[in-house]
Amino acid sequence: VFQLSVPLNFLGSVYRELRQSLLDMETLFNLQKVNVAIKEKPDAQPLLLNKGGEIRFENVSFGYRPDRPILQGLNLTIPAGKKVAIVGPSGCGKSTILRLLFRFYDVQDGRITIDGQDIRDVTVESLRKSIGVVPQDTPLFNDTIEHNIHYGDITASTAQVEAAAKRARIHDIIETLPDGYNTMVGERGMMISGGEKQRLAVSRLILKDPPLLFFDEATSALDTHTEQALLSNINSVIREKARTSVFVAHRLRTIYDSDVIIVLKDGKVAEQGTHERLVDSDGIYAELWSAQEMLFTEEEQRVDAVEDT
Ligand code: ATP
Repeated sequence: VFQLSVPLNFLGSVYRELRQSLLDMETLFNLQKVNVAIKEKPDAQPLLLNKGGEIRFENVSFGYRPDRPILQGLNLTIPAGKKVAIVGPSGCGKSTILRLLFRFYDVQDGRITIDGQDIRDVTVESLRKSIGVVPQDTPLFNDTIEHNIHYGDITASTAQVEAAAKRARIHDIIETLPDGYNTMVGERGMMISGGEKQRLAVSRLILKDPPLLFFDEATSALDTHTEQALLSNINSVIREKARTSVFVAHRLRTIYDSDVIIVLKDGKVAEQGTHERLVDSDGIYAELWSAQEMLFTEEEQRVDAVEDT
């Protein structure tokens, strides 16, 4: 009886592992579940990034439901190798733009191109391989921290994993854990904070090193100081390699240094330009900026007051 119970237990744990890894895949790709509609063309070709990764939305219309359009005749260009921010009121369709680019859904009108190729004409695999995303909420695998970062590029060496973690400003925290990089995380492992999760996601992305990078509120769970430090590291990664990058953000302080800031409203581009130009033009962006700066200054004064007492 004793002898038998060992292999049975073993099978039980293999089964649990298997079930868990299926769950993990589901979490990671949960957006794809809703999307049975997109189809790859039989003659689809691999995406060729032969112009440095220029992204264009040409007259794009899209809604999740026919009676509720989200994007309406949207035209925008994300120049190759530039840092672009998309801002606008909550629910205006910022994350939708990223989902369309990843081809979780197809546009209902118009087209999206990358380096001149309609994304419906290229293989889904080559498209998604070219894109790295740090989403609003990063799913973690029930596995070690090392594995969670390594997933970005399974061929990377341990030294490369650590280098990525350093750039994402999480290495020092990992080192203080009793099991270091071997610490288990995920639902069955150690609980880690939202900000730590975001930094693991950034490590994974830095390791993956894709030509196109999307950040969807990627640093929103961090305190201002850590956020600024991480953003400056992310900036040096994307500037060094001249990667096309798109930042979706609420807090304008995190994106004011973008090459182009696109302000969305009512499914269209309402304003676009550099921070200086937009502030000077006294439009929606200028108003948002001064409202946020006022809040920020009040907050800083409160913090100073607390520190003084
Ligand atoms: P936020 O700044 O609040 O994150 P957002 O500008 O990124 O918002 P999206 O997430 O792109 O907005 O959503 C745009 C609109 O589409 C919202 O009104 C949202 O409720 C709706 N929406 C998003 N996903 C779906 C979905 N899967 N099915 C139906 N409607 C959806």
